[in-house]
Amino acid sequence: MFYNEIMVKSVLSGLSLEELKALFSPLPPFRAKQVYRWIIRGTRSFFDMTDLPRDLQEELDFRFMLYSSQVSSRLADPDGTVKLRITLRDGAKIEGVLLVDGGGRRTACLSTQAGCPMACAFCKTGALGFLRNLDSGEIIEQFFHIQTAGTGTGNGPVDGPEIANIVIMGMGEPLLNLTELRRALGIFTDPEGLGFSKRRITVSTSGVIPGILDLADHGPKVRLAVSLTTADEDLRKRLMPATMTHPLPRLREALLYYQQKTGCRVTLEVVLLGGINTRRRDMDALADFAEGLDVVVNLIPWNPVEGLEFEGRPLGRPTVREIEEFSEGMTRRRLGVTRRRGKGLGVSGACGQLGESFTV
Ligand code: SF4
Repeated sequence: MFYNEIMVKSVLSGLSLEELKALFSPLPPFRAKQVYRWIIRGTRSFFDMTDLPRDLQEELDFRFMLYSSQVSSRLADPDGTVKLRITLRDGAKIEGVLLVDGGGRRTACLSTQAGCPMACAFCKTGALGFLRNLDSGEIIEQFFHIQTAGTGTGNGPVDGPEIANIVIMGMGEPLLNLTELRRALGIFTDPEGLGFSKRRITVSTSGVIPGILDLADHGPKVRLAVSLTTADEDLRKRLMPATMTHPLPRLREALLYYQQKTGCRVTLEVVLLGGINTRRRDMDALADFAEGLDVVVNLIPWNPVEGLEFEGRPLGRPTVREIEEFSEGMTRRRLGVTRRRGKGLGVSGACGQLGESFTV
């Protein structure tokens, strides 16, 4: 191997096995495989790779970095949710969340962008604006930080119970960063990598049509969730201005296409905003939109974010009655409905609450 005098170390966390083999050439491929196996176990130092000779550990340590990010703060909610603030190599900040359900199953909620360009009125990340896309390594590193989040600082080797599910629902619009997301998903689902079933991974989009079609055509066949919020086109454009170029009839066609190609049921996420999208006409519009689609509607009572307004009025949580009526309204319209409990509210780690600020 040759060393440059001034060298920026390459980061290995987001590389596939094939990419590692190419990078390590002319070393024999089995060396890349050894390193890959250590990486996907969350190992943070080449010197912990005990099946590598010492001189190779030193050479790798000189040339490469395993991680480019580190946990800068960790907030734990009594309900089991842990929110991690993660600082990236350039100082940008993102957040990742560990969610634990009633049965103790652990889910990692990952971000794909620092900030978000979609500017949804009800979302704290949207209020930050957009800084940049994350690369595959930055997406994967969040998983390992979260894996250890329940037991320590999130900066150690993997030692907690296994994470059962991955949801790409953190900061950012995943389908605007599909190339890097796909690279990360490739490693998550690689049988020689983390070996996740595609059915245990959910990608949530605000409804970016080209991304849905791309995912349908080129995979991976993960579960898809769409933050619909409302199927009243006028209200949706006002709440989610960046979806203006993704009108509902075309979005519906794209979802139908996704289902035909993948055989997967799609989740329609509806963040319920008190007095805004809980009207009877919202229920009717949603039922019309869902007609002919295989969907389940996931109701998410809005999680408070201080300072967020919609058309000059402060946003508010829906009342219990609004939630009940909407849920019953869905059932009456023969739609499957689930309700998300507000996990992580104590640490502002719930849906729509991520992102203090993405800069240092
Ligand atoms: S809801 Fe999702 S798409 Fe909308 S601004 Fe927030 S992170 Fe971006």
